Amino acid sequence: MNNNGNIYNLATAGAQRLIPYKAGKPIEELERELGLTQVIKLASNENPLGPGKKALAAIQAALPSLALYPDGSGFTLKLALAEKYDVDVSQITLGNGSNEILELVARAFLTPEHEVVFSQHAFAVYPIVTQAVGATAVVAPALNYGHDLNAMLQAVTGKTRLVFIANPNNPTGTLLSQADIERFIGALPDTCVCVLDEAYFEFVGGDESINSIDWLKKFPNLLITRTFSKAYGLAGLRIGYGLSSPELADILNRVRQPFNNNSLALAAAQAALCDDEHLQQTIAVNAQGMQQLTKGFIDLGLEWIPSAGNFVLLDLKQAGQPVYEALLRKGVIVRPVGVYELPNHLRISIGTEAENQLFLQALTDTLANV
Ligand SMILES: *Cc1c(COP(=O)(O)O)cnc(C)c1O
Repeated sequence: MNNNGNIYNLATAGAQRLIPYKAGKPIEELERELGLTQVIKLASNENPLGPGKKALAAIQAALPSLALYPDGSGFTLKLALAEKYDVDVSQITLGNGSNEILELVARAFLTPEHEVVFSQHAFAVYPIVTQAVGATAVVAPALNYGHDLNAMLQAVTGKTRLVFIANPNNPTGTLLSQADIERFIGALPDTCVCVLDEAYFEFVGGDESINSIDWLKKFPNLLITRTFSKAYGLAGLRIGYGLSSPELADILNRVRQPFNNNSLALAAAQAALCDDEHLQQTIAVNAQGMQQLTKGFIDLGLEWIPSAGNFVLLDLKQAGQPVYEALLRKGVIVRPVGVYELPNHLRISIGTEAENQLFLQALTDTLANV
């Protein structure tokens, strides 16, 4: 076969058409590009307090062992997770970020014959993992920016092997009720795996609290994914986990790399899980920051979508890209969401009080000039 010297022709159809994930701009990149020194990043929903003291101490303690391979089973972290969430160790899959769990489930269950249902404006990784394995994405229209579970159910066919739900959803911050999700999963055919992506569940409190783990007992096709990247402040270490039936976890663990979690991540995650003080402080700072930002939006006459996460989607009612670029020139990185079919919105991660203030000032200055 002659490929005309074009290596792209050799790649799978899925890889050829894949549009890569566009991450938030790194601080160093903006500093390099614009010669700025005081850049703040409110673009990737990271923890503005950083990692907790216990996680940092655990990393220090693990450093002398770096010549050794990590524990490929993640045994002690899994024990800690099993105890905290009252599940069996056999129900846990550890991933290089929960992102890897999303990829594992796609690789283990999808072929080009299958369809995958998710919502318009849902997390951008779902179309990527679907496309990468050559399966077909079926996008259900959103309802008030959130998931329309009825529309999603209608989109399910005999070919649907996977359904993704993000709750809360990124980038919209919308939250589904637990009763609605439970009913939805119960209505799915048993030929369909349901991924419930709860990357932000720690930020959801009060009456809306998330109790999805109880459903694992009755839904063998349910996979809950969670992460240490957001509320626990360990995004740079890449560690997350899946909770499911032991059978589903067994399948995911078959396809993962033997050492997919590094030893610093395993140690830090285990310590972070016991650091309730840092978690509670994170949640409190987030709640205060959300109030601070939304009050700022009111003062500016701006609208936003109420968010259950550690970020908020601002409705500019004008193109977001020029505002994003003007904010960059002032040293503030936020997230444009045009790829989510939201060209007039910007997603702002909640920062510290000082960062939120700097952002609001930069936004005020920017909007006075566009
Ligand atoms: C951030 C995020 C993730 C993945 O984060 P990891 O760092 O890979 O654990 C997954 N789902 C949603 C909705 C997210 O916003």
